[in-house]
Amino acid sequence: MESHNELIEFSRVSTLSKLFSCKNTIVNKILNSEIQSDKSAEITNDSRCLQHGNHDLDYSKPIKITDIECQACKTFYSKFVHLFDDKIDEVCYKTKEQNSD
Ligand SMILES: [Zn+2]
Repeated sequence: MESHNELIEFSRVSTLSKLFSCKNTIVNKILNSEIQSDKSAEITNDSRCLQHGNHDLDYSKPIKITDIECQACKTFYSKFVHLFDDKIDEVCYKTKEQNSD
């Protein structure tokens, strides 16, 4: 299947066509996702403009933010992944009641 139009065509002739037309199913969302996928294409293009640096890391030990040489990844890491020590304690404290029992 090469294009979204082919998917639409497939959804019409498929034995699962009723499922495709059923609202709130994943396949229905995919079928109606054309406008959204245009937006995500823009985001992908933006991220391609980012200049990445060296990604060679020693994965045998925990990665520290100072180990990350690539500036683009370092920015992403510090923005979305990195926790300061006091935040680690906070997460530890606030989730101590959580378990799988
Ligand atoms: Zn990078």
